[in-house]
Amino acid sequence: MQIVESIAELREALRARSGTVGFAPTMGYLHAGHASLFAASAGENDTTVASVFVNPLQFGHNEDLSTYPRDPERDARLAKEAGVDVLWMPTVDVLYPPGFSTRVRVEGLTEGLCGRSRPTHFEGVTTVVARLFHAVRPDRAYFGQKDYQQLAVIRRMVEDLGFGVAVVGMPVYRELDGLAMSSRNVYLQGDERVRALALRLALQAARRSWAGGERRMSCLAQLLHTTLVEYGVDEVDYAEVVDGATLVRSASDCADADRETVALVAARLGRTRLIDNTVLSAPDPGLDRA
Ligand code: AMP
Repeated sequence: MQIVESIAELREALRARSGTVGFAPTMGYLHAGHASLFAASAGENDTTVASVFVNPLQFGHNEDLSTYPRDPERDARLAKEAGVDVLWMPTVDVLYPPGFSTRVRVEGLTEGLCGRSRPTHFEGVTTVVARLFHAVRPDRAYFGQKDYQQLAVIRRMVEDLGFGVAVVGMPVYRELDGLAMSSRNVYLQGDERVRALALRLALQAARRSWAGGERRMSCLAQLLHTTLVEYGVDEVDYAEVVDGATLVRSASDCADADRETVALVAARLGRTRLIDNTVLSAPDPGLDRA
């Protein structure tokens, strides 16, 4: 595995290789969820590129940019084991040199859910992903469904700007007890780790209700909310059931049988904000098993 920093080094490494390029962008502090993206790419492409970059543009002023966990050496080991050929670890100056003033903004899909409490977040994500795509020029790009809204926003950007990249969504990778893997799980202190299971318990409650025939989105959302509170999260950021394509509740409040319906939650435990989701209208082995 080659580790590169500048765009020139990255292009040089890719020039030496032929065939298709798969790419998985990350913010590092890698875990098995990230590795599942790398392994999928390695199975489907001649070359797999991963990036590790804690993107300042996607953090709000009062968020955790300065404390975001970092361990580049461990990241390099895990990336290599998971089949990454080129690991790109750019500095802030490489991606945003002095004078950089362009922003890529997707409207509509970015306004609800995470966009409500993090109004500048998705603009930071789409700006960095556009920047990374232009440098890597991948054939396929791998993103986790754990960040369901992010995946929808990136698909929209890729379509609107004609990137010509196939966006592949990968299932949420979970700990044995069902907690969605996240680099931020390391923040959880004391009983917060156990209380964090409230997110998967809420999604499972909604899945059971859906399996029992409930299709009113507001009732399913209320159930999510009640379960999060009951199992002791400190604050519910949102608990919503929406149409998977528009990311809003349908006007009728009734889930359409022909469309994807998704339950999404975001909650705080102490200083940690966690998110999770499940597609109610499809099997979810990760949750149905946990
Ligand atoms: P991050 O480093 O948190 O920005 O995540 C980088 C990529 O890994 C994104 O596409 C995430 O959706 C994906 N990812 C993070 N956690 C998981 C997980 N538990 N399962 C699957 N993909 C994940």
